[in-house]
Amino acid sequence: MNKTPKYIFVTGGVSSSLGKGIISASLAKLLQSKGFKVTIQKFDPYINIDPGTLNPYEHGECYVTKDGTETDLDLGHYERFLSIKTTKTNNTTTGKIYQTIINKERKGDFLGKTVQVIPHITNEIKRRIQLIQSEDSYDIIITELGGTVGDIESYPFIEAVRQFRWDIGENNSLVIHLTLLPYLSAAGELKTKPTQHSVKKLMESGVNADIIVCRTEKSISDDLRSKIALFCNVDKNSVIESIDAKTIYEVPLLMQAEKLDKVVLNKLNIKNKKKSDLNDWKNFVDKLNNPKTTINIGLIGKYVELQDSYKSILESFVHAGAVNEAKVNVVPIHSEEVNDKTINNILSKVDGILVAPGFGERGIEGKILSIKYARENNLPFLGICLGMQMAVIEFARNVLGLKDANSTEMSKSTKNPVISLMNDQLNVEEKGGTMRLGSWKCKLKKNSLAYSIYKKDLVSERHRHRYELNFKYNEKLNKLGMISSGTNPKTGLVEIVEIPSHSWFIGVQFHPEYQSTVKNPHPIFVSFVSACIKKNNQ
Ligand code: GLN
Repeated sequence: MNKTPKYIFVTGGVSSSLGKGIISASLAKLLQSKGFKVTIQKFDPYINIDPGTLNPYEHGECYVTKDGTETDLDLGHYERFLSIKTTKTNNTTTGKIYQTIINKERKGDFLGKTVQVIPHITNEIKRRIQLIQSEDSYDIIITELGGTVGDIESYPFIEAVRQFRWDIGENNSLVIHLTLLPYLSAAGELKTKPTQHSVKKLMESGVNADIIVCRTEKSISDDLRSKIALFCNVDKNSVIESIDAKTIYEVPLLMQAEKLDKVVLNKLNIKNKKKSDLNDWKNFVDKLNNPKTTINIGLIGKYVELQDSYKSILESFVHAGAVNEAKVNVVPIHSEEVNDKTINNILSKVDGILVAPGFGERGIEGKILSIKYARENNLPFLGICLGMQMAVIEFARNVLGLKDANSTEMSKSTKNPVISLMNDQLNVEEKGGTMRLGSWKCKLKKNSLAYSIYKKDLVSERHRHRYELNFKYNEKLNKLGMISSGTNPKTGLVEIVEIPSHSWFIGVQFHPEYQSTVKNPHPIFVSFVSACIKKNNQ
């Protein structure tokens, strides 16, 4: 085992969606900027093994790590803020914990004992809290506990944290409780009662919060800080205000102003390594807040009602916008609403379109129609995964003249399966974790748009799909103007298609959005935004 790290647990109270992921990532950013080696992991109390089988309406986007694990979208925030690469160890669920214990029980590992929540499930949680230290040597490990304190399914996690803190002794861990101070406009007041109750709930399980971070829409007065401190067993300087911010990227700076990092280091008895260096981060936020132009990009998908469904795509546009000093206004377009009658009205207002990833038949004709419009009107187009597959279908139908061209995902019996199931998927029956997942290499063609964007021969991108461009049609597509500019060097699988006669038209089988960070905005998004700015200037 490596050196002993310090552990920080982040719990949530009063309401969900308060932004535990952003607070965790912001604190980690501050600690990282002081020279500490930090990582964050997420423990989700649901029983699914991973969110791979969840509909985006349930739990937002499914994020994919480089090692091909389907994870909670908060891991995307961790990577975007910290420029670290997470792995399967960074996300645990109740499902994974029970699966491990049940498998052990079946093997007879418990030697006749009754298998119980305490100690077997809690021991497994404690093992997983520390597991990540075996991957690297961290100074500080932040564990974000999903859900809200008081939920039945969260209890084993809270109990494990209680035991774990006892095991590792004083000053080696702390608990940050993120809570909500609702503002009652009729009374003109911020209310602390729900916070008092949720801190008490935590204490009933034997866990004291060391720091209370209060989400609030109004600034917290000194008196209110004293009141929260008094009722919640913390010092006044451990009551941290987290006021609504214009962008999530301001939160590290706000937390620094509230001295969250100092309080944390103090409580953990750690000496400052060096002065915080957040200059690059501040420059980025400055650019975000002072754009020189605004452009509109249509995001065409079937889950657009829920912002979290396309989280990484939206954040990639923020990063790419900052590089281009432009505000990217993402216009959500429901693919089911695009038809012959509505299309001109909808797409004449945008400077480019992104056709989103997805599964199944619903809304695909709207996507295909939008791609036809983009191709014929020289509107910048980026297709991701299903979006790329739809671009191939559109081209096959309308340029190659194969009217019934389709993907076998949508029509098993199509005579022209231009998109078909990958060979190694033919016998796959189980749904969970069985797609082509994670990082795969892609070799770029010289003189292509893709090559001019990446400026190198070989790139590595993350995937999540079962279908691919059917190689049988590749030559015909190439001949009539849709070239494959990126392929897997081992298998030949087509990773990128583009139309050289178009000003900016790219479809990628992979998900560039999973790799865009504040420090390294993804070059495809940067180039796409720049093409949309050009279109806007015309
Ligand atoms: N449904 C398509 C496939 O499985 C695309 C998947 C995606 O967009 N992530 O290949």
